[in-house]
Amino acid sequence: MSFTSLLLLREFLAIFEIGTAAHSQPRVSYFFDEQVANYHYGEKHPMKPHRLALTNHLVTSYGLPQYLDVFHTRWATDDEIREFHAADYVEFLQRVTPDNVAQLTKTFSQFNIGDDCPIFSGMYDFCKIYAGASLAAARRLLSGDADICINWSGGLHHAKKSEASGFCYVNDIVLAILQLLRVHPRVLYVDIDIHHGDGVQEAFYHTDRVMTVSFHKYDGEFFPGTGHIDERGNGMGKQFAVNVPLKDGIDDATYVALFKQIMRATIANFDPSAIVLQCGADSLGCDRLGCFNLNISAHGECVRFTKSFGIPLIVLGGGGYTIRNVSRCWTYETSVLLDVDLPNELPPTVYHEFFAPDYQLHPVLSGRIPNQNNAAYLNDVSRTVLEQLRSIQGAPSVQMQEIPPDIQQFLEGKILVKLF
Ligand SMILES: [Zn+2]
Repeated sequence: MSFTSLLLLREFLAIFEIGTAAHSQPRVSYFFDEQVANYHYGEKHPMKPHRLALTNHLVTSYGLPQYLDVFHTRWATDDEIREFHAADYVEFLQRVTPDNVAQLTKTFSQFNIGDDCPIFSGMYDFCKIYAGASLAAARRLLSGDADICINWSGGLHHAKKSEASGFCYVNDIVLAILQLLRVHPRVLYVDIDIHHGDGVQEAFYHTDRVMTVSFHKYDGEFFPGTGHIDERGNGMGKQFAVNVPLKDGIDDATYVALFKQIMRATIANFDPSAIVLQCGADSLGCDRLGCFNLNISAHGECVRFTKSFGIPLIVLGGGGYTIRNVSRCWTYETSVLLDVDLPNELPPTVYHEFFAPDYQLHPVLSGRIPNQNNAAYLNDVSRTVLEQLRSIQGAPSVQMQEIPPDIQQFLEGKILVKLF
C-alpha cells in the first residue's frame, strides 16, 4: 500500500472514530473547592476569583451536578508544585505574605512580582487549591474512571518555571500534563484564551511528546508579546508548537471554521492519546481585557468539537474578566461536555442581579469591535499552519513506552527511567 493510501485510510478511520465516539455518553468529573473563589488580587485588579463562585452557582442551579462526578480535592503539595517550578521560586511563594513584603522586595523583580502579579493574602494557598484540582483531574483521567475532567479554577497558562506572569503564579496546566506524560505518549494542549499560552509552550518547547496549539491575539505588543506564527518549537520539539495569531474583532464563523480546520489536521497528524483544553473566556466579546467578538455559543462550539474526537480530555478555565460572561460561558461549556441542553433563561441564584438586564445564558456579545481579520489574512494563517502540521505527518514522534522517562531528564537530554 502506498504512503498516500495509508494516509487516506488513516483519515477514513479517524472520521469513523469521530462518528462513533459522538454517540457514547462521556463520564464527566468536575473538580471544585468553593474556597478558591474567596481570594482577592486587589480591588482594581481585573482577575476576580469570585467568577468561580458565579460559575459554580449557575452549574448547580441548572441541575448539572446530577450528571457529574463532583470532587472536592486536596491542595497540591510543595513537592508536587516543584515538579515544574524551581525550588527558590517555590520557597519565595511559601514565605511571602502582605505582612512581610517589605523584607522581600529585593526579590520581586527576580520573580516578576508587581501590578499584574501582586502579593495578596493567601496567594500561595489559592495556587495550591487550583493546582490540586488540576492534578486530581489528571490522575482521575489516568485512572480510566472518567473520560472528561473539568477544573474551571485552573488554566493559569502564563506562569513560568521561576517566575509569576500575567496573574498566574503556579502553572497547573504544566503540572497536569507532566502527570499525563507518565502514561500517555503524546499529549495535545489547546488554548483558546485571547492571550498566548506562553508558559505551557515554553515548558514543552523542546519535546515532541507535547504539542501546544494556541489561538490568540498577536501584534507583538498585546500581552505576553509572544505567539508569532514562526514560533514552532526547538530541537526534538521542532514543529510541535503551533501558533495561530489573530487580530482584533474575530467573529464566530471565522474563528470556529479556523479552529476546526486546524484541530482536525492537528489531531490527524499528531495522534494524541490525551488532550488538555484551556478555555480562557477573555476571547469572548465584551471582555474587560479582550478584543474579540465571540459569542458563548462559538466558544462552546470549540469545546464541543474538541470533545467529539472521543480522546480523554481535561478542560480548564483561564482568563476571563467580565465575570458575568465568564460564568455563563463555563456553565454552558459544562453542559456541552455533558451533552445536556440548557434553557436560555438563567435559573435563579443568589447572584441573579449580576446577569441583568437579560438574565440569559446567551447574551449578545458580538459586533462591538470591527473585524480586522480579512479573508486573505486568515487564509494565509491557515495555509502556513497546515503546512507546518503536514511536516510532522506520520512522524512517530515518540515510541510507545511502558514507563516513560521523567520529563525533566527528558528535556535535559539525559533519559533515565524513573519508577513511580
Ligand atoms: Zn487571557
